[in-house]
Amino acid sequence: MKKIALIGSLAIMICQQGFAQQKADPKDTEVWTPVPKQIKFNPIPEDAIVLFNGNNLNEWKSVKDGTEAKWTVKGDIFTVKKGTGNIETKKKFTNYQLHIEWQIPSNITGSGQARGNSGIFLGSTQGSADAGYELQLLDSYQNSTYSNGQAGSIYKQAIPLVNASKKPGEWQYYDVVWTAPVFNDNGSLKNPARVTVFHNGVLIQNNLELRGETVYIGAPFYKKHGPLPIKLQDHGDPSEPVSFRNIWVREL
Ligand code: MG
Repeated sequence: MKKIALIGSLAIMICQQGFAQQKADPKDTEVWTPVPKQIKFNPIPEDAIVLFNGNNLNEWKSVKDGTEAKWTVKGDIFTVKKGTGNIETKKKFTNYQLHIEWQIPSNITGSGQARGNSGIFLGSTQGSADAGYELQLLDSYQNSTYSNGQAGSIYKQAIPLVNASKKPGEWQYYDVVWTAPVFNDNGSLKNPARVTVFHNGVLIQNNLELRGETVYIGAPFYKKHGPLPIKLQDHGDPSEPVSFRNIWVREL
């Protein structure tokens, strides 16, 4: 008798579930608006701001004195002109996606931090030439240095997950998603900066929370700021200069 009762209640349960499923409409969970804008490629995403695709450095200026960027443009690449200082974009950005291609010269010399050192400051703050948030650029193919200072590190804050460096002479790239920090009116930090970085297509920084601006000596710190330029570093070491090409940014 007990067995029959059990089978009976199981049958009722299955029927009830069946009814519930019948009542649910797949349309209930479909969301049709907003419709994401369809992006064309020409060959980069059509909503990208081109920061360099050859010919000139019109989108950039010298950090030192705000005059025109003095790095060397040759065809569709440009190269750090040692001693002329860092350059930064004329435009300012908050949250963005950045694509930037770079090359350590095949005849690179030097070692450690003095071997193809440059950097991409994801936000260039005031204070010193190197003030801001630096994604390190260095020859890290076969070049030992402190791990939180190698290519793909957030300088002295975050070691890259892997070393995806290519040989000197080969073109490499970073794809970056940058979320700027948010500050309260009184200057205190509301939300820290976050960054995701792909190096040659490989994830090396995964939604990393920054502890502040990257500094050479001492602890990182936050200081209130608004939208910032993107800055490239003239490091000042004596090794052969780094080149760049095909740089674009999409505001988010
Ligand atoms: Mg650097």
